[in-house]
Amino acid sequence: MAAEENECMSRQDSELMKSWELEAILTNRTLRFVLRLEQQFVCPSCGGIVLNPHQTGCGHIFCARCVRAYLENGGSSKCPLDNIPIKPEEIFQDNCCKRELLNLEIYCTNAPDCTQRVTLCDLQDHLKACQYERIGCSNVGCNDTVLRKNLLDHQRNVCSFRLESCYHCRQSFPASQLLVHQKNSCLDMEIPCPNKCLQMIKRHKLQAHADECLEVETDCIYKNYGCTFRVREHYNLTLKQVKVSFY
Ligand SMILES: [Zn+2]
Ligand SMILES: [Zn+2]
Ligand SMILES: [Zn+2]
Ligand SMILES: [Zn+2]
Ligand SMILES: [Zn+2]
Ligand SMILES: [Zn+2]
Repeated sequence: MAAEENECMSRQDSELMKSWELEAILTNRTLRFVLRLEQQFVCPSCGGIVLNPHQTGCGHIFCARCVRAYLENGGSSKCPLDNIPIKPEEIFQDNCCKRELLNLEIYCTNAPDCTQRVTLCDLQDHLKACQYERIGCSNVGCNDTVLRKNLLDHQRNVCSFRLESCYHCRQSFPASQLLVHQKNSCLDMEIPCPNKCLQMIKRHKLQAHADECLEVETDCIYKNYGCTFRVREHYNLTLKQVKVSFY
C-alpha cells in the first residue's frame, strides 16, 4: 500500500516537472482543449493558460509570468478580479491546479493532420512519436526538417546528404557529391583516353595505358640514328612493322 502510494506520488511529481518542459515545447504552438477550458485554468491577468499556476492570497490563480510581475511590484499590485492587494508572501505554487490541468485532454498540436487526443501531461511523449511532428534530418550536413512520417523517404531518396555508393568504386559519398566524384576523381570510372586513342580507360589505369597508348607522342625509334622527330607511337609501330617486314 505504502509502495503504491509512493509510486503514485512520484508519477505525479514527474508530471509536475513535465509542465516546466511543456512551457518550452508550447512556445509557437497552440493548445486546443477537447472540452471547453474552465475559467480557473486561464490567467485572469494575461488570459494565457496557467501552465505553472500560482495562487494568491485571495484564492485566484495566475500564471508564473504574471506572478513574477506582481512580485517585482513589491506588493503594490491588486488582483484584477476582486481588487484585493496581492501580497508576495501569500503566493504559492498551486500543484493541485497544475495536476488537474495536466490531466485535461487536448488535441495533438499537429492537428488536424494528427487526429490523436492526449492529456496535456502526455503531449510531450506523444510528440516524440507523432508522425506529423516536424523533425530535423539527421544526415550530416543536412538542415532540412521534415514530417516524421516522411523522414525515412527523405533520408533514403531525397536528402542531398544521403550516402550513396558509387557504382564504379563502391565507396560511399553524399548524393550531392557523387557526380563530382565520378566526374573528377573516381579511380574505377572509365574515361576517354586523354590522348584521344578512342579507348575508355579506368582512371587508375591511365598511367599504365599512357605507356602503351598509340596516340602518345614519343621519341622516334630512330632517334639514335639522328631522327629528332617526336612521333606518335602508332607511327613508330608502323615503322617497326615496316622494319620487321624488311627482314
Ligand atoms: Zn498571466
Ligand atoms: Zn483575487
Ligand atoms: Zn500527433
Ligand atoms: Zn536530409
Ligand atoms: Zn567511384
Ligand atoms: Zn590512349
